Amino acid sequence: TTKPLSDLTIAQQAKTLPIKDIAAKIGLHEDDLDLYGKYKAKLSYDVLERVKTKEDGKLVLVTAINPTPAGEGKSTVTVGLGQALNQLDKQAIVCLREPSLGPTMGLKGGAAGGGFSQVLPMEDINLHFTGDMHAITSAHNTISAMIDNHLHQGNDLGIDVRHIVWKRVLDLNDRALRHVTVGLGGPAHGVPREDGFDITVASEIMAILCLADSLEDLEERIKRIVVAYDHQKEPITAEQIGAAGAATLLLKEAFKPNLVQTLEQTPALVHGGPFANIAHGCNSLIATKTALKLGEYVVTEAGFGADLGAEKFCHIKSRVGDLNPDAVVLVATVRALKMHGGVSKDQLHIENVGAVGEGLKLLAKHIDTMKKLGLPTVVALNRFNSDTEEELATVLDWCAAHGIRASLSEVWANGGLGGRQLAEAVIDAVESNESKLTPLYELTDSIEQKIKTIAREVYGATDVVFTAKAQKQMKDVQANGWSDLPICMAKTPFSLSDDPSKFGYQQGFTITVRELKPSVGAGFLVALTGNVLTMPGLPKHPAALNMGIDESGKAIGLF
Ligand code: ADP
Repeated sequence: TTKPLSDLTIAQQAKTLPIKDIAAKIGLHEDDLDLYGKYKAKLSYDVLERVKTKEDGKLVLVTAINPTPAGEGKSTVTVGLGQALNQLDKQAIVCLREPSLGPTMGLKGGAAGGGFSQVLPMEDINLHFTGDMHAITSAHNTISAMIDNHLHQGNDLGIDVRHIVWKRVLDLNDRALRHVTVGLGGPAHGVPREDGFDITVASEIMAILCLADSLEDLEERIKRIVVAYDHQKEPITAEQIGAAGAATLLLKEAFKPNLVQTLEQTPALVHGGPFANIAHGCNSLIATKTALKLGEYVVTEAGFGADLGAEKFCHIKSRVGDLNPDAVVLVATVRALKMHGGVSKDQLHIENVGAVGEGLKLLAKHIDTMKKLGLPTVVALNRFNSDTEEELATVLDWCAAHGIRASLSEVWANGGLGGRQLAEAVIDAVESNESKLTPLYELTDSIEQKIKTIAREVYGATDVVFTAKAQKQMKDVQANGWSDLPICMAKTPFSLSDDPSKFGYQQGFTITVRELKPSVGAGFLVALTGNVLTMPGLPKHPAALNMGIDESGKAIGLF
């Protein structure tokens, strides 16, 4: 057997159309675009305004079972399904998150799909793209600089320097920056204090950019960001620091969705990319809403598995944006099912039909959760070369026996052609009009109640334990009047429980909430169940080791 082509080789051999031709497919003119070279463009504010009165297309949300660390192929299936829908003459638009340089240089590889289902130009998208990450970094750090300047100039607001919650950000995995001391060097160099860096995609500014529905809303949300507390423990906001206007100004281009194309010239909006743990993990609301106006079908994804990404899509993004997914695609792989069926990581390549069958309990749990949320589900079984016919049949037969729409997805190997059956199943689900998003909790429920509902209904936990610290923070949140915000759970993606080593369907477990952090600007309360690293580190052999350029200036080693 020949070795499959790398994602980079496939992308470099692809035929790309000028972006204005892609725009024309969805009724846009060159004047509607702010061009970033020939193959990338931002949609102008005129377009965003003009399309508002148009009817919405259909929304398809792609999620997955709890993933293995390698990812189960959500982005790949999202892109492939968009291509397949187009082959079936449905004008589809793909909406994806923007990759961050942290994972790109680190472990995971690109986030632009894979195989014959990728967005292009993949090199640009994975590297600096249209500069959104830079803009978000600058906007965030402007607020930081103004906080430290405020301290230096006399601290009129009485900020408690030990209680500044706004760190600095950088779009890289760099563990050495997690804890730093700033302001050293004497009176001319600022006020010494402990600080730290998060990765840019963990910035609240990123979450805000992805939830704001207009520039005005963006500014209002930035104003509400809590950056510190004073000695009376009263919150100090970005507005009080006077940084909201400048931060919004720095984001005025970044807020416009980026238009690119897939390997089969399907239009794609790649915009925004918040963390899926301390934030909600979906591409920007403005991209999704605009795509709904421009296409018949919009295929979008939410980070991690259905217990995190899809739950947050339903309770956070859909609430803010008044969205209702018409269907959910639940990506599963034989290797992940085997892992959840008890097989260890180094044995996943060996056929094990029994373990696949055991892993189906987890698939069933997620399908059931989507049902509770009122959403019809189509299982997409993302085929890998190592899967055997019997393993694949075990999943598809089980779905058929339980009346669940399911299809093999071969979009990685064959592009849109490999996703036609899946697309047909999705169209069937959408056209059945079964979908009616039913949130599992009300915003007016108590914080405790909201978290318990998610833990019980979505994870299958019996109860939730709040540490003393979390209880204290819950009281503070109530006192500050932030109780009615939705919950953003920060939990391991690898398990239904909060223990990353517990694979498969779990029962009889409790979830421990260790901390509760308000993201008042983004508009949610983050409930932390484990240690979440908001500044990841590089692995022993980072992907960056393989990267470089060849003699013609082309990228090498970018997966
Ligand atoms: P996710 O969005 O779930 O994190 P991705 O779509 O980014 O996952 O895929 C993760 C990696 O797995 C990518 O490098 C992609 O090329 C690869 N991949 C996805 N599907 C397949 C498949 N069917 N066969 C082989 N590799 C795949």
